[in-house]
Amino acid sequence: VPTHPEPIASLIAALSTLPGIGPRSAERLALHLVQAEAGTVRQLAATLLKAREEIRFCGICGGLTREVPCAICADPRREATLVCVVERPVDILSIEKAKTFRGRFHVLGGRLSPLDGVGPEDLRIAELERRVTAEHIAEVLLALSTDVEGDATSHFLAKRLAPLGVRVTRIAHGLPAGTALDYADELTLSQAIEGRREIHQP
Ligand SMILES: [Zn+2]
Repeated sequence: VPTHPEPIASLIAALSTLPGIGPRSAERLALHLVQAEAGTVRQLAATLLKAREEIRFCGICGGLTREVPCAICADPRREATLVCVVERPVDILSIEKAKTFRGRFHVLGGRLSPLDGVGPEDLRIAELERRVTAEHIAEVLLALSTDVEGDATSHFLAKRLAPLGVRVTRIAHGLPAGTALDYADELTLSQAIEGRREIHQP
């Protein structure tokens, strides 16, 4: 089997570890990069490094930010007693695009998935419980994805938070699972937030 010479082969291998980049895309990108202007590639490398070095997790919500706390957590005009729980940092952006939600956020870091070995201790659930108490949060709005695991995680959270006496609500339709954020258009999301319902625990 003919293979690319080094270091092209290593570059292809490195690129194919990225999400959404299969072997064919990795090969196309690698061949493009090794033939591009050296200055362009140097700038791309510098931009990658800069983004990685300057971005960190907000210590409060868990979102991606350059300043800690992030702009949303630091904004005194946001409703401090209302917190929207999302799976991933990128979900904050989709909710923000809908321009309906005026509270703060909490990133779980995923959803419960027994098959993949993701349990409650792997998510930022204890942090959420601490925030509910420390920040006197009145309502936790769950905006998790619309699949079986998202549903199970929402019910688990409602149960865990029940003893804290906080109101737990859920958006009318969940966020799309995976990276298909474009499917959640702003109007749909904003209706989903407005149509939120309380999760009742037996
Ligand atoms: Zn934050």
